[in-house]
Amino acid sequence: MVDLTIDGKAVNVPAGTTILEAAQNIGIDIPNLCYDKDLTVFGGCRMCVVEVEGARNLQTACSTPVNPGMVVWTESERVVKARRMILELLLANHPSECIICEKTGDCRLQDYCYRYGVKESPYTGERREVEIDRGNHLIERDPNKCILCGKCVQVCHDIQVTGTIDFVDRGFYTRVTTPYDLPLNTDICRFCGQCVGVCPTGALINKQFKGTRPWEVSKVRTTCPFCGVGCNFDLNVKEERVIGVTATPEAPVNGRSLCVKGRFHKDLLYSPERITTPLIKRDGEFVEASWEEALEEVASRFKVIIDRDGSDAIAALSSARCTNEENFLMQKFMRTAVGTNNVDHCART
Ligand code: SF4
Ligand code: SF4
Ligand code: SF4
Repeated sequence: MVDLTIDGKAVNVPAGTTILEAAQNIGIDIPNLCYDKDLTVFGGCRMCVVEVEGARNLQTACSTPVNPGMVVWTESERVVKARRMILELLLANHPSECIICEKTGDCRLQDYCYRYGVKESPYTGERREVEIDRGNHLIERDPNKCILCGKCVQVCHDIQVTGTIDFVDRGFYTRVTTPYDLPLNTDICRFCGQCVGVCPTGALINKQFKGTRPWEVSKVRTTCPFCGVGCNFDLNVKEERVIGVTATPEAPVNGRSLCVKGRFHKDLLYSPERITTPLIKRDGEFVEASWEEALEEVASRFKVIIDRDGSDAIAALSSARCTNEENFLMQKFMRTAVGTNNVDHCART
């Protein structure tokens, strides 16, 4: 364990902990744009610089491990001056359109500009003017709002392991794009949306959220019904309608990872083809029934079949479109209540 002080507070953390993590342990929020606890440390944005007594230069808190006796200041005059300059440099090449940006209210760049009172950049000159990619029906990409934090690139390479996007060109012309600037499509992209989830600005937007401000939604934690993995996520509800899904770091199975089905297929909720009540076939036609009627029908028919032919005359097929627990209950019900091992599953699991 290592003892140090941060902003005058004593901290005791395991060796190898970074200054950023040690500060988080005692509730000190060091600003950062490219840091993410699930990704490899990049140290590119420099927003997390702190003053370490005895060190000549400011240190990046995300990549500097703690040392015994270290004395760290996270909001000293020198630190704040450096952060203001970083923000001013970012704003020098960033559109001034927070007022109409989809990300407003949920944007790290905006938050830090507010925190450090940066409203414009003193640096004038050429600005990026790249075409916004609106062609995809799920993800909108606005490279003009990209601050080159690299999180999308890392999450796509290291967590999704797809490598759809990467940095190209150098210096002022550096940007994140696909191979040969191809539009996002299913040949190169899994549409997991993880890049959108980690982007700290409005450079990557889930189009399902367009026209909605972050404060207009309430979140409801649920388990994805698409397969047996059991990912958790938050349904985002606006005016009693689910408008989309966001991942939550608190999800025990999946963390913030989701696949295309969980993240984007909220359309099924309001599909007119969805069966929302039990149906019983009468005279060759399906008719709507209550759950009581449907369960009574199944139970009485089961009883007739079992009395006449035995339990093995019945079999059950369950579905990969159920949770693991629902599939468990189905086989349990067949084995214990019906008394047969005739169970199977559309994915043969
Ligand atoms: S990305 Fe953030 S800083 Fe940029 S315009 Fe949108 S809200 Fe403002
Ligand atoms: S949606 Fe997933 S696969 Fe596609 S670019 Fe983003 S992270 Fe990569
Ligand atoms: S698109 Fe977003 S996540 Fe990717 S580098 Fe730009 S700002 Fe960072």
